Amino acid sequence: MIRLSCCAFPASRLRVFWFLELRLYIIPRRVSVIMPALQIVNYPHPALRWKSKPVKSITPELRDIVRKMFDLMYEARGIGLAANQVALPYRLFVINLTSDPNEPDEEFVFINPEITKRKGTAEGEEGCLSLPQVYGDVKRSEEITVEAYDLNGQLFEITLDDLAARAVQHEHDHIEGIMFPDRMVEAKRNEIDVLIADFESEFRHKQETGEYPPDEEIRNQLAQLEQELG
Ligand code: ZN
Repeated sequence: MIRLSCCAFPASRLRVFWFLELRLYIIPRRVSVIMPALQIVNYPHPALRWKSKPVKSITPELRDIVRKMFDLMYEARGIGLAANQVALPYRLFVINLTSDPNEPDEEFVFINPEITKRKGTAEGEEGCLSLPQVYGDVKRSEEITVEAYDLNGQLFEITLDDLAARAVQHEHDHIEGIMFPDRMVEAKRNEIDVLIADFESEFRHKQETGEYPPDEEIRNQLAQLEQELG
């Protein structure tokens, strides 16, 4: 989630190119993979440090996951959510800069995204649905070009700036296991360390009470999910 008031893809800067010959394989039938009930996980859940591998195929389950991710993102009033944030090791994230479920045209799904070009630098405040109420300034590229697959398995290229560029870079970091405080300068990061420590204590407490398994077990589950659907 990026806490900024600007809330629309800058249409004049939005350039999408379709590559008809490049598609992810779409599997039309259901495969039996048991998915856990999705929920947004907070730092320091191990999924948030997982470097996700590319998705190989778009299954009906993956479409269901993406829909659920949008729903969870709207519930939390966010504008972006990566699969790692719902404890899934898949290289994808969703964005709707309006954070409004009544604006489905603003929904963008980025599967196996790659940032292919960067221009300039811009500093701005960011927050994260996996670190609620924690905010900090982060330097990002001002303009980026991204290649990704959409939910139809079609490769597209898009050039973004302003909030859209920041949101995509923030979410792209998630699938690399990077969180926004990692990008902050040390002096500013120190200011929020105490808040981050509270999340650490809370998560460890939940592990002690059995709400979450130990880290090693979570990592084993992630590795298994990666094998089943990745
Ligand atoms: Zn985040």
